Amino acid sequence: MKIIMLGAPGAGKGTQAKMIADKYDIPHISTGDIFRANIKEGTPLGMEAKQYMDKGLLVPDELTVKILLDRVAKKDCQNGYVLDGFPRTIPQAEVLDKALGERGDRIDHAIDVDVPDENIVKRMGGRRACLSCGATYHIEHVPPKQEGICDVCGQKLVLRDDDKPETVQNRLNVYHEQTQPLIDFYRNKGILKTVDGTKDKEEVFETIEAVLKA
Ligand code: ADP
Ligand code: AMP
Repeated sequence: MKIIMLGAPGAGKGTQAKMIADKYDIPHISTGDIFRANIKEGTPLGMEAKQYMDKGLLVPDELTVKILLDRVAKKDCQNGYVLDGFPRTIPQAEVLDKALGERGDRIDHAIDVDVPDENIVKRMGGRRACLSCGATYHIEHVPPKQEGICDVCGQKLVLRDDDKPETVQNRLNVYHEQTQPLIDFYRNKGILKTVDGTKDKEEVFETIEAVLKA
């Protein structure tokens, strides 16, 4: 099963993608996590990506597409995967479609986690992320068991640089301009499902499970 998560930054794509990955035993692939891991390790890719990420801009397609195609070519992706944060532009979606099509393959579901901009701004300020394992929390809605510490790996949680309010508005603008058109792209392919992302995370997941079973 190959799944794409769509939705604004902070809509809950990563939260749901992790739950899907656990339940269906497929890898959760987040291009944002891949970039953050590279930034942490100080690789040339990380240094280049950081310049865009810190401003709330998209990393150029040439860099992003190569990383994603290399990742989905790995053996653990044979039975499917859930993509979180990719594609974010129409050209990225076209390259992915082409690469899959060459192997007689395709994406099965594109799930749009729908959350209005007003809720997004609140969620981002409360998000805390683990830069070691990629887990995310919310200080009110999805708190870790011990304040400031990741439940999964015990590392310190941080407020991501790009979750600061001045950057969040830029990211939302970029989302509406460059990423939202993907909703029609996948609707036209007949694989789009929209779920109400304002519900609590278990309820959102139940709706997604129903979509995947249908
Ligand atoms: P995305 O991957 O779309 O950027 P995240 O999954 O990181 O979004 O979620 C953004 C923030 O909102 C996080 O702090 C997360 O804990 C919180 N969150 C996720 N799902 C919900 C939900 N259904 N209700 C309230 N808060 C949520
Ligand atoms: P995310 O973790 O998905 O919120 O992504 C964080 C940041 O990484 C984004 O704001 C972009 O700067 C960059 N990024 C992640 N995925 C992509 C992508 N598919 N295309 C371009 N930039 C991306």
